[in-house]
Parts: sequence; C-alpha cells; structure tokens
Amino acid sequence: MKIDTKVIHGAYKPDGETGATVAPLVMSTSFTHESAEDIEAVFNGRAPGYVYSRISNPTIMAWERRLTELEGGMATIACASGMAAISTSILALAGAGDEIVSGNSLFGGTYSLFAHTLARYGIKTVFVESTDVSAYAKAITDKTKVIFVETIGNPKMDVPDLAAIATLAKENGIVFVVDSTVTTPIMVRPKEFGADIVVHSSSKFINGHGNALGGAIVDCGTFDWSGDRYEHLHDYHAKAGSFAFMAALRNQYFRDIGACISPFNAFLTNMSVESLAVRMERHCDNALELAGRLDSDKRVEQVRYPGLAGHPGNKVAEAQFDGMYGAVLGFRLGSKERCFQFINGLNRVQNLANLGDAKTLVIHPASTICHDLSEAERQAVGVTDDLVRMSVGIENIEDIWEDVNNGLDSLK
Ligand SMILES: *Cc1c(COP(=O)(O)O)cnc(C)c1O
Repeated sequence: MKIDTKVIHGAYKPDGETGATVAPLVMSTSFTHESAEDIEAVFNGRAPGYVYSRISNPTIMAWERRLTELEGGMATIACASGMAAISTSILALAGAGDEIVSGNSLFGGTYSLFAHTLARYGIKTVFVESTDVSAYAKAITDKTKVIFVETIGNPKMDVPDLAAIATLAKENGIVFVVDSTVTTPIMVRPKEFGADIVVHSSSKFINGHGNALGGAIVDCGTFDWSGDRYEHLHDYHAKAGSFAFMAALRNQYFRDIGACISPFNAFLTNMSVESLAVRMERHCDNALELAGRLDSDKRVEQVRYPGLAGHPGNKVAEAQFDGMYGAVLGFRLGSKERCFQFINGLNRVQNLANLGDAKTLVIHPASTICHDLSEAERQAVGVTDDLVRMSVGIENIEDIWEDVNNGLDSLK
C-alpha cells in the first residue's frame, strides 16, 4: 500500500464481532478477566490483553497500530499530547547527570522542557545550531543519551539534514529522536533517514481539525539497546530484545508518568488521519503558492519557507520531504507595529497559537509564544520583532490570498 492508502486502511480489519468499519470507541477505564490465572498471565506479559486504560486500551491501540504502519516503525505509544510524548520519552532515556544534544530551533514547550524543567532534575541540554552537523559532533560527551531535532524548526524554518545527524548518532551509539509534527508521515518517514525514535504532536496536522490533543512515540526498531550508554534498559533488553524501549515505557516510564491519551481523542485522531494525505497535499500546495506571492510582494521584507529556491534549507527539504515543503511559513513586515496592523487587518485568518489546522492561522511569535524567551534565546530561534508566522490551511487559495492581501493593505 502507498501512504495515501495506508492512512485509510493501514493496520485495521473490521471488528470481528460487529463488522464495524471504524475502530470502536471503548470508553472503559478497566477490563475484566475470566479467572485469576487469566489476569495474572496478562499482568506478567505471558498473554495479550487489556488491564487498565492508562497502560493500554483497544481504541488507543488501533490508532497506535495505524501510526506504526504509517511511519514504517516497530511500535507506537500514543500520549496525551506532543509534550507528553517528548517528556515521557526523554525521561525514559536520560536521568540525573545525563545530557541531551538538541538543535536550537525548537517548539517553545520543548525548549522550555529542555532548558528549564529537565535542568532542575539534573538533565542538561546542550543546544546547537540545528543545521550545523559539526556542532552536534562537538557537543557529544560520554554522558549524551539523546540527539534531538525537529524536521523543520519554526518560525526559523530551518531544515536539518536528518541522514547526516543520524550517521553521527549511530557512530556514537546515541539514540536519534526526531520530532516530525510539522511534516507528518506524509512528507517524511524519519526512519528512512536513520532516526530511531519519532515523536509527534498529533494535535496539529495529523488531527487537523483542532478538536483533540494528542501525541505519540514511535519506536523505529533500529536501535541496539544493549549499548553502553543505556545500562538502565539492559534488563528490559534481556527480556524484550529490540522491544526494550517500548517495554520500559509500557511497564514503567509511560505507566508511571500517566500521560495517556483519552480513548475519545485517539478515536477522533484515528478518524482524522484518514484524510491526512489529501490534506497535506492541499496544505503544502497552498503554502507554496502563498509563499511565492508574498516573496514577490513589495510590502513584505522577507519570506521564510523551505519551498522557495533562495531558502537555505531548500535543497535538504527537496531531498527529504517528497517534493513537499510543509504548510508553515514566516514573513517579516519591518516592525512589530506593522505585524499588528497586518494581523488586525485580517478577517478570515484566525489569530491563535496553534498550527496544522484546516483553517489558516496567524500569530506574532515575539509577543506571544516566545514572549518569555530572553533576547539571546529569541535570536537563536530566529524570532525577530517584525516576524509573522502563518500556518496555511486548506481553504481555497484565492480566499486565503484575498484575506492576506487585506492584511497587507492595512499596513500604514
Ligand atoms: C505543538 C508542538 C509540540 C507540542 O505538542 P502538544 O500536543 O501541543 O503538546 C511539540 N512539537 C512541535 C513541533 C509542535 O508544533
């Protein structure tokens, strides 16, 4: 099956009992068993089965299986949100005294988790220029447990070379974790470029309708967990082999932290994903067209979009993303005042702190999602005062353009 068929048919057979073509919504916290022996076997991992929905649930499992199939991975754990997926996976890989090497162009929540929250618990993050492979190499020490990047950093819109970073991670026996939220499995399967773990916020494009938070941790099945750096997983490796990380999550870290997704959110997400391929195609076509028009418009100072030939990430993006360039773009209007005039001049485009919705969305990052960063941090993540970020929706491009043009016309 091709990816645009897999989103519809991947990993689901109609329910055996009822013939339901949609994975049934099972709103049950817990699951009963015939005998004490049966539940003992499930608890001890000798028999498959469900116990309690914080650990696993049939509706959630249906969504996990589909995402595993889309990523070409080995197994998936769905989480309450993208941040739940990132924090849970990092806490399972690193402990006090350990280090993370991360690209510096990060989603604000991830940046705060790494720079502030994990630091309190003794996990240190070394931030490097996201696209500079030699900077990652220099930052690695014998305490490094994770190398982390996002496929396209936003609002900087830089594109790290996944294969080059993966090679470096492999040479050093370090897990390579890739956040593919803004690209989704439609644009890239990071495993094909050497990623070991893929994390997602499904709240964005995967859900696409702004109705359910969710996240996921996908294990590509590529990493050798018997390596020196991961002594804390050696017992799991002895019992579960290549499934060591997933077993450690399901039996310990994910179970203990408790950031599970609601079955209802998994149900909504699994339904939405069926249209992901056609939505991404339309998102990316609209974004490319809009970026081109803005780029040749005198009222706009600079457009950041990897699909533009002059963008520094254009070649890497072309090689990695199947001829698509994403649906998030940044553009500069000369000053904060002009950004506000632009946003206030929009009628249809919604001014909010989300991306990846069917609707076109806009925000002024410096005064909102990045307001708590220091000047130096803002510079590192490419947030200037005169920058607007837009997540291009799937409306008709002429209606999007008409509204963007309204905004530009209101510049004084
Ligand atoms: C939104 C986002 C997250 C966090 O996801 P939530 O579902 O909001 O917790 C993580 N990474 C990226 C790239 C995001 O855009």
